[in-house]
Amino acid sequence: MGGRGSSSGTSKGMLGRSSSISVKNEQTIVDAIAKSGAGLYANQIMKARDNMEKEYGNIISSANLSVADVGSSALGAYGQGTVYMSNKYVKNPNMTQAMKQAEKDGFHPAIGDKSGVEAVTSHELGHFLADKACTKAKISERELVSRASKRIGVKPNNMAATISEYARYNYAETIAEASADVYCNGSKASRASIAIMSEIKSILK
Ligand SMILES: [Zn+2]
Repeated sequence: MGGRGSSSGTSKGMLGRSSSISVKNEQTIVDAIAKSGAGLYANQIMKARDNMEKEYGNIISSANLSVADVGSSALGAYGQGTVYMSNKYVKNPNMTQAMKQAEKDGFHPAIGDKSGVEAVTSHELGHFLADKACTKAKISERELVSRASKRIGVKPNNMAATISEYARYNYAETIAEASADVYCNGSKASRASIAIMSEIKSILK
């Protein structure tokens, strides 16, 4: 949970669910921009980071952002305070289209008017926020979802199903998908997603 195996895929077929994803050729976003210019993808990653900083505060700026080879199927991964965006997918102009297909399949939350890169960044930063909130409150991700469920009178087990298919994978993914849902859809996100992110905000404030 929250390890490097926390990956997200565009569709069931592309989902990396291995328990440990090897991270190679890692480069910070800052270095990537310096070496190859601020590509559209880098702007999108920074945009998502900046928007989430407005929402969740300064803590977001302590997340390390990088691009790396994270295996053939993962779009991104998170581990130890670092978000790894896939070298392979992040620069692919078809990524937004791929995310829209995953949305149609119900596999990921709707991405609204956001790009695929923004959606994945907000998912991975959701792992970061969960990490920080659970550490601060000394609770598990399961407990965090359980607390959020009480806010809206829903059984903890029924939270994930209203967010996305991938949210059902485990509690870490429930929270990360909630983060992407709220980022992309705002007040139109699922009540479960809003409750989870409100719980995180109240712990981190
Ligand atoms: Zn994830």
